[in-house]
Order: sequence, then structure tokens, then C-alpha cells
Amino acid sequence: MLGIVKTLATTMRAALRKPVTVQYPTEKKVLPHRSRGLPVLLWDFDVDEPFCTGCQVCARYCPVDCITVTMKDNPRFAEGKSKRKKIVDQFYLDYARCMRCDICVEVCNFDAIVMNNTWKGVELSCYDRQDLVLDLPALLGQSKSGQLKDPFREPMGVAHSGWAPKPVSGEAEGAGEEAGAAGAAAHPGSAGDATEGGEG
Ligand code: SF4
Ligand code: SF4
Repeated sequence: MLGIVKTLATTMRAALRKPVTVQYPTEKKVLPHRSRGLPVLLWDFDVDEPFCTGCQVCARYCPVDCITVTMKDNPRFAEGKSKRKKIVDQFYLDYARCMRCDICVEVCNFDAIVMNNTWKGVELSCYDRQDLVLDLPALLGQSKSGQLKDPFREPMGVAHSGWAPKPVSGEAEGAGEEAGAAGAAAHPGSAGDATEGGEG
């Protein structure tokens, strides 16, 4: 008998409790600041041009090769209006292939790219995969129009802190060095290369 009463009490408590779910998509929860949607480019309102210099570091590090980018001479530099000698010319990012790993954001030396932390960064369903290949205006659009109000980016120095996994106990020191050398060979852009494209 006591068990039945306890069960009924538990059922009543659950029935009266405020729901933890919402009626998506008409109602949406606020996403965490560090939410990792698909990457977008940022607009530099001080100079009225993209932050991106087209240095291609992100494209070289992207593990799934979903970025294509080219650079050009910046006409605004010649006019004395910008400090960026080079500027992005074309930028294509295939959202259908991107796995949201954040690596492009971590390696960018110009704070030009962030993981979209709004619902627009995840609500991208469409009928044709080709529609998921975004060009430069599309990638800049949300930032340029002021809709990307509070993008999150790990402060420089955190992502580049030099952290590396510790060697397994008993592993010879030389083996660790060999592994490091192999890693550097596999990722020819690591360390020094990340500063390339700093002409801007
Ligand atoms: S690493 Fe940054 S500046 Fe270089 S091409 Fe990518 S987004 Fe642009
Ligand atoms: S988040 Fe990762 S997979 Fe997506 S574009 Fe950046 S580096 Fe490539």
C-alpha cells in the first residue's frame, strides 16, 4: 500500500514539474556562448573589409579539405586606408563536409574566422548539397550585417599554448621525439608555418 502511495506521489510530482524541453522550432533555447556551429568569417568594421587576408593556413590545416581560398593585393592598402597588404579574394567552404572541429579557427592568425554560435550556424537543411558550399559574401554576411553580435573565439595563446600529449610512461624519450618529427612531417604547416601570410 505504501509503495502505491509513493508511486502516485512520484507520478504527481513529475506531472506537475515544469518541462525541461521546448517546442522547437517555434521556441528555441539560448545557445551557449561557446556553441560550435559551422564556421563563418568576420567583418572588420573599423576598416570596412574582411579580417581574412586569404593566407590559406586554415585551408591547409582543415582535416577534410573543405576550404578553398585565394588572396589578392588589397586596393585599400594602396590607398592608405588599410594595414592589410593582402586580402581575401575568394573563399569557399563546403558545410556538407565540415566536421566542426574548430581547427581553422585555432590556426587563423588574423582572428578572421569563428565557429558560428547562433542558430544560423546549425539550421542549414536544404535539398541540394551544392547549396551547402558557401562563398565569400555568404560566409561574411551574418557578421557584416551585424547579426553575429557576440562571436566566441579562444584568446590567442590559449589555442597556441604549445600543449602536447604526455608520453606514455616507460616510453623512451627518443620515441617521443621521433613521433614529434613524424607529426611535423604529416602537418608541414605546424609551428612556424602558422605565421605565414602575415603580410596584412
Ligand atoms: S587562416 Fe584566417 S586569414 Fe588565413 S585564409 Fe583562413 S580565415 Fe583567412
Ligand atoms: S571546422 Fe574543421 S572541418 Fe570545418 S572548415 Fe574548419 S578545419 Fe575544416
